[in-house]
Order: sequence, then C-alpha cells, then structure tokens
Amino acid sequence: MIENTSICKNILELVGNSPLIQLNKITQHIPGSFYAKYEAYNPGHSMKDRIALHIIEEAEKQGILKPGNTIIETTSGNTGFSLALVSIIKGYKCILAVNSKASAGKINMLKAMGAKVYVCPAHAKADDPRSYYSVAKRLHEETANSVYINQYFNQLNIEAHYNTTGPEIWKQTNGKVTHIVAASGTGGTISGVSKYIKEQNPNVKILGVDAFGSILKKFHETGEFDKNEIYPYRIEGLGKNLIPTATDFNVIDVFEKVTDEAAAHKARELAITEGLFTGYTSGAVVQAALQYGEKGIFNENSNVVLILPDHGSRYMEKIYSDDWMKEQGFFDSQTKENEVVEYIK
Ligand code: PMP
Repeated sequence: MIENTSICKNILELVGNSPLIQLNKITQHIPGSFYAKYEAYNPGHSMKDRIALHIIEEAEKQGILKPGNTIIETTSGNTGFSLALVSIIKGYKCILAVNSKASAGKINMLKAMGAKVYVCPAHAKADDPRSYYSVAKRLHEETANSVYINQYFNQLNIEAHYNTTGPEIWKQTNGKVTHIVAASGTGGTISGVSKYIKEQNPNVKILGVDAFGSILKKFHETGEFDKNEIYPYRIEGLGKNLIPTATDFNVIDVFEKVTDEAAAHKARELAITEGLFTGYTSGAVVQAALQYGEKGIFNENSNVVLILPDHGSRYMEKIYSDDWMKEQGFFDSQTKENEVVEYIK
C-alpha cells in the first residue's frame, strides 16, 4: 500500500500527483506496456482541478482576483466542479454556463458545490447568443469584479499541465514513456503534457483522441476549418466545433477518431476488467489506444501512458445506465452483447 503520512491544510493540497496504474487486461491483445494516468484521483475527481487551481492562483498573484469576487466559466461539467471546489476554499462566488449535453447528475454536483448554473443549448453555434460561450461572456460583462476563466483561450490551461501532469508522467515512468494517448477538448491537457515531455525527449509520440462530429482531426491534418466535419455527438468533454487557442496543434503528432458507441462500451469494459471506474472520455482514450495499436503504432518496447480524465460517477445516467445504452442503440449489435457476456466471465 502506498503511504500517505501527512496532514493536508485543506483539500486543495491534494490536487495533482495522480497515480499511474498499469493496465493488465484491456490492452492485452496489442503489443507494449500500458499505464493509466488516473485523474479521477484528484479531489474534484478530474484533471480539471489542476487548471482551476493554477488559473485562480495566477489571477491572485496578478492582483486580478480578491476574496468575494466572482469566477465565471463555460464548462462541460468538470472544470465547473473544480472551479467551485477552489472557490469554496478561497472564498469566491462561482457562476457556470453549462452545455445541455452535460448529465443532470453533473449539474446537480455543481449546485452541491455552491455554484450558480446556467444550462445552455448544446447545438447552438459558438457565436449564437444562446451558446454557453456567449452566455458566459455576457455574465462576465454584467457582473462587477468578475473573472472569466475562458479555458479554451487561456494559455494558463496549457501551463497547468506543463507544470504538473507532464513532469509527473516523466517521473513516474522514469523517463521511459514512448507514447501518450490523450483526449483533446480545450487541448490544455494534451498540449501542456506534450510540450513538457517533448522537451525531455522529442521522440515521444503524442497521440490525440477526437470524436466523429468534431473538427480537430481534420484541422490538424489540413489546417482547414471544414464545417462538414461538425455534427452532434454524445461524448462529453472531447472534440470541438471551434479551434481553441489552448490547443497547440504543433506538439500533437496524430489524431484518431472514436465513435460514441465504441467509447461507451470501452469505458464499461475498463471498469469490469481493470476496476477503473472512469468517465466517457476515458473510454474514448482506451478505445483510441486500441485503434492505434491495431494500426501497428506500438511494439513490445512501447511504454504507453493513457490519460484518463475523470471519474465514472458523473455518468450514471449515461454510459453506466443500461436504459441509456439501449436508447442509443448501443446494445443492438450481436457482437456487443457477446462482448458484455465475454468480459463478465
Ligand atoms: N475529458 C473530459 C471528461 C473533459 O471534461 C475534458 C475537458 N473538456 C477533456 C476530456 C479534455 O481535456 P482538455 O480540455 O484538457 O483538452
């Protein structure tokens, strides 16, 4: 058992330093060693604790933020929870504009942490006044002494992962990491981790994960903003319908797209094979790693780190609900049903 011997002054001291856990079953049929960077271990149950703490502490250092002030953000849930958590300890008000794709459970969690939540239509385009971007901007303009975190366009998002997640992975693997598989939403995680790791060893390959319905992969490959790539999809927190400046496309080697269905099944499989109860994008990351493996990207000497962004408890009404899975048609194919039986055995 790993020892935990000191007293924390408050919960924020537990942000970061998430464990790296060897995967023993789910990646068995592809060559290489695979390790999960288990971000659910953060006190707010996701890697967004890292950016919430860093961005708020930088604003404090610059004298922009004073106790009693208001923090405003757009969020698919996780960043909101983390901002609410940091706000509680540091004495700020927290207002969140949330995409309606976020689960009811996630929204209730934000409220439980004292945040004021505005739910905005998921399919409104970024420049639509109803979009969560526009709503957050308006609330910021209307609220005196407020700070807009703006995670999609804030370089401190990248910096948080450059300062913490990247060095942790380097240290935990004794510099032996060869590939990193990471989801890209704002792009902060993949960009910050990649920047740090490539400074240590430029040969490490950074493998991005995107969704069908998102613009990122095509934009990375062609530099073209192709609107035809954009359509609704179900995975929350990964992929984008705009190009965030918190994504440094130059430090990402390649993107792979995953389907809503495969990612959902993979998250469920991860829970019952490895005991890792994670969110929808973690399933997407594992699914992408397997697709990369099937394309022959890894060999026996590969040390692959999969960044698993958050905890499964936020998805009880979605991927961990059999009814939801059925409604999506995710249990329709014979193969999938067989797979479920297969991994219970
Ligand atoms: N997974 C989940 C569950 C998320 O909430 C996010 C953040 N949108 C991501 C992955 C993507 O991380 P990042 O924003 O750092 O690219």
